[in-house]
Amino acid sequence: MTDQNETGTGRFAGGAAWVRGRFVPMDEAVLPVTDWGFTRSDVVYDVVHVHDGAFFRLQDHLDRFERAMARRRLKPAEDRAAIEAILHRCVALAGLSHAYVAMACSRGRPRVAGSRRPEDCDNHLIAYAIPWIDVIPKDVQARGAHLWIAGTPRVPDASVDPTVKNYQWNDLTSGLLEAHDEGYDTAILFDRDGFLTEGPGFNVFIVSGDRVLTPDRGALQGITRKTVLELCDGLGLEGRVAPITREMLDEADEVFTTTTAGGVMPVSRVGGRILGNDRPGPVTMRLYDAYWAAHADPRYATPVLPLEATA
Ligand code: PLP
Repeated sequence: MTDQNETGTGRFAGGAAWVRGRFVPMDEAVLPVTDWGFTRSDVVYDVVHVHDGAFFRLQDHLDRFERAMARRRLKPAEDRAAIEAILHRCVALAGLSHAYVAMACSRGRPRVAGSRRPEDCDNHLIAYAIPWIDVIPKDVQARGAHLWIAGTPRVPDASVDPTVKNYQWNDLTSGLLEAHDEGYDTAILFDRDGFLTEGPGFNVFIVSGDRVLTPDRGALQGITRKTVLELCDGLGLEGRVAPITREMLDEADEVFTTTTAGGVMPVSRVGGRILGNDRPGPVTMRLYDAYWAAHADPRYATPVLPLEATA
């Protein structure tokens, strides 16, 4: 695989952002402390990645972002075409061929002083491109992550819709704190009914024979998850979205996690249990290879426009 640990150059070396209608270096990408995106986590977001100079499944990410904004009744000044152009320019300004590219829409601040009405706020778009990051570090992925089964339950779907990508991470962060206290890399959370959901920044899969299952609740409909489910067909695997109990997790042959900022990420331990030979499993690695190979598929790749073309 290509080296993803590059950095940009010049003023935008740390990345480039679009904030309040301007392109700025990452250090200048700041919000007022009274923005409801900050004070209330009243914000939706999405993250797409750039691999070898091309966005991966950009239209899927824009579809999900538009849907999330509509669900939360958020509407920035920029339309979809403008958002897409801004993402291209952020990456081009940062000079990155491997990048983590975020877009967010915040409720903003009320136009009417003292108003508590969401309708009175000026919603606004934030976007940025920074050098590629892995949600689970590469060396941990290589040996397989150690997942802690969090005692904190996932917030109910009826309270915070997990399919609307959001920053209300208290339950996920509690899981992460528990995991680190116990010497694990990261966590997975069950809901209060005893079904597996997801982890801080990733979907989770279990493998049992040829069956590759991912939870049907409490989780974001991840684009990486979607790619893995599609790839299963071509590999003779049965990929499915299904309810997953603790017993099914305990009996799984393999477990892996998926996210944009990391791809297919192997797991070698879950709670006290060691999977396989304490190393990434064979089905996981077939999907890992297929996932990165899919980046060459022109159906998924949108080359980043050169800087001159994004002005
Ligand atoms: N679940 C959560 C809570 C996430 O934050 C993410 C990504 O950031 C995912 C799942 C994976 O989604 P995707 O594959 O679209 O990046």
